[in-house]
Amino acid sequence: MLKAPTDPSISTPSASASGSERRETPTLTPTLPSAGHEKLKNLLVCFSLGNLCFLRRWYDLEHLKEVSMNYYRTRPADPTLLVATLVSAVLLTMVFWLAWLWVERRPTHAKMQLARCVFLLLLMYPLESVRRYWNYEGNHADIGSNAALLAIEALLGVGVALTLAGNLRVVHAAKRVALMLTLLFPSLMIDFGWSRVIAEPAAAFRPKPTLPMLAHAPGPRRRVVWMLFDEFDQRLAFGLRKPAVDWTELDRLRSESLVADHARQTAGWTTLALPSVLSGRIYGRAELIDADTLRVFPEGSSQGFNWRDEPNIFKKVRAMGLNGEIVGWHHPYCRVMGDSTVRCLDVPSGNPTAALLRETSVADEGALRAVKFLFELQAGNLLDMFRPSASSAENNRDIYVQHRQLQQYFQIRDHAYADAGDPQIDLLFVHFPAPHPFAIYNRKRGDFTLDGDLSYADNLALVDRTVGEMRRAIERAGLAPSTSIIITSDHGLRPDLWRGRLGWTPELEALTAGGQSETVPFIVKFAGEDRGAVYERAFSSVETGDLALAILRGEVSTPAQAAAWLDGRPGAN
Ligand SMILES: [Zn+2]
Repeated sequence: MLKAPTDPSISTPSASASGSERRETPTLTPTLPSAGHEKLKNLLVCFSLGNLCFLRRWYDLEHLKEVSMNYYRTRPADPTLLVATLVSAVLLTMVFWLAWLWVERRPTHAKMQLARCVFLLLLMYPLESVRRYWNYEGNHADIGSNAALLAIEALLGVGVALTLAGNLRVVHAAKRVALMLTLLFPSLMIDFGWSRVIAEPAAAFRPKPTLPMLAHAPGPRRRVVWMLFDEFDQRLAFGLRKPAVDWTELDRLRSESLVADHARQTAGWTTLALPSVLSGRIYGRAELIDADTLRVFPEGSSQGFNWRDEPNIFKKVRAMGLNGEIVGWHHPYCRVMGDSTVRCLDVPSGNPTAALLRETSVADEGALRAVKFLFELQAGNLLDMFRPSASSAENNRDIYVQHRQLQQYFQIRDHAYADAGDPQIDLLFVHFPAPHPFAIYNRKRGDFTLDGDLSYADNLALVDRTVGEMRRAIERAGLAPSTSIIITSDHGLRPDLWRGRLGWTPELEALTAGGQSETVPFIVKFAGEDRGAVYERAFSSVETGDLALAILRGEVSTPAQAAAWLDGRPGAN
């Protein structure tokens, strides 16, 4: 386990390290001549420094080692990032070592002073990068850790001043700490090696085998196409109608549908919201366990269940003798519940952690380019320390995710349109990665050209386009008379997550000043119905699945019946 520099196991013993260091010295000297001993010590200090400069990457690797991260992976963890981090640290070690040899060759007072000051300044970098990591990525920033790290950084700063004044106490202490840290390296390697030995096999990442397609019983056909648009905000889109978007398709659909303005989201984030939506039961907490296990905790309960074993709409559809299909984003749906469907496509890892993104991007590029990337990333981190807010490393990552999200959208869209027109499918559930930031559509041009000026409004326009294209796909297949369409979302726009990121605008800042809205769109277009109605009462969108089942059973087929059905649900008020 790599410990933070503020961890007592590293920082506190540093003061007493001199004692233990002195005690250990004699055991080393008999086997090595003293010049060799000194050389080895200096090499180890360089090695320690080389690794410390990549401390944030080691943090990433520690995080990626957790089996729970497999939930968002499409295959077993890729070792490229680990290899590239090792190679980068060794390369940097060599640079420091060569620099030291240059100083040693003809040591002058000025050269020695320069080396000492650079050494202390270099030690400040990993500390500051870790402090920033905690504050921006680690989600566990606290005043104590910040204060401790800043204090050590200040001590190093004082050390520079003392060194210039001829006092080498801090330099010597820092050198001893750097030497001690090399002891962590073997245990770190054993730890990584062991995690690979016990890693989940490739089979764990395969989708569960789907069910055979059932033939339809005679009688009237009823189908449901349920489109869930991630982060589709009811208040902005239809309450305020800001940012301004041309809602041609959705206004037409809404005028022919039952529309509810007060449907509440099931949770504030995707990983928790979707299980509630699909299982028809509100979960208060979700825990990632492994490649195909999400442990869900019903609201108010401390007992967790494997989401796979919980009821879900696809199991219920099957029990009715019908065929259900998932085309979805973010969750590994096919590993969790593919065996409740007749067809399944998932695109996991919609908005993963920064570390997982690096693992994926580095695996795509190969080890050599990864080393270059890691040096660029460290240089970016270093430059970020001199910038007030906007982070270049952060922004580059957003652009990478934006491009990735566009590909994911295409994959989901193409499958969804094709299968919405397949008469064998009775329930098609599609989880789209839009309008979830980042924007992947240019609403002014009406196409998918990407640039940094795109915003949430562009993705809202993409939702409108997608709805229109989906309706036409159903019409072309001649299935419009039997197909009801449901449109919902998992949660509203999250300003706290996106503020300052790619595509965030002053308008969005002003619109979300009061915080995140908890209402999501709820639109139900009944097959063969073109009279619209508005449902005024508030309810949880967790009801959507049961309403879809009621439509498939033929119990609800008009807006009036749906309104009465919603009135009778326990959560309505
Ligand atoms: Zn979401």
